[in-house]
Amino acid sequence: MKYEYAEDLQNRMEEIAKFLEMEHIAIERVKCFRSSGSSTKRIIARCHTIGKLMQKAIGVKAHYAIEFLERFERMNKDEQDKVIIHELMHIPKTFGGGFRQHDFVCDRNVEIMHRKFANMKRGRFF
Ligand SMILES: [Zn+2]
Repeated sequence: MKYEYAEDLQNRMEEIAKFLEMEHIAIERVKCFRSSGSSTKRIIARCHTIGKLMQKAIGVKAHYAIEFLERFERMNKDEQDKVIIHELMHIPKTFGGGFRQHDFVCDRNVEIMHRKFANMKRGRFF
């Protein structure tokens, strides 16, 4: 596996978190990467973190990394935004090193958030 810091995706992720008012997200501790060389063709993106014990062992606060696999590049911009929203929604309110599961991070909730983001971007605040 090869990982490369993705500044363009980092900027898009930060914009989405800001527009969607995800204030529980410590943006300086969320980093976006592109990966290549994975054998899994099915996965588009995934969210990584370090658990509580390792945070204590290393002496750091929780961090999250969002990994975008090659399949992501072939999606259109709206679909990509939905993937970014999906991954951000996995980060729990506690920002503690755990994840929210797919009962919450589901297509329906992602759609709602994406519509909100699209409207905010167009400058329609409702
Ligand atoms: Zn997911």
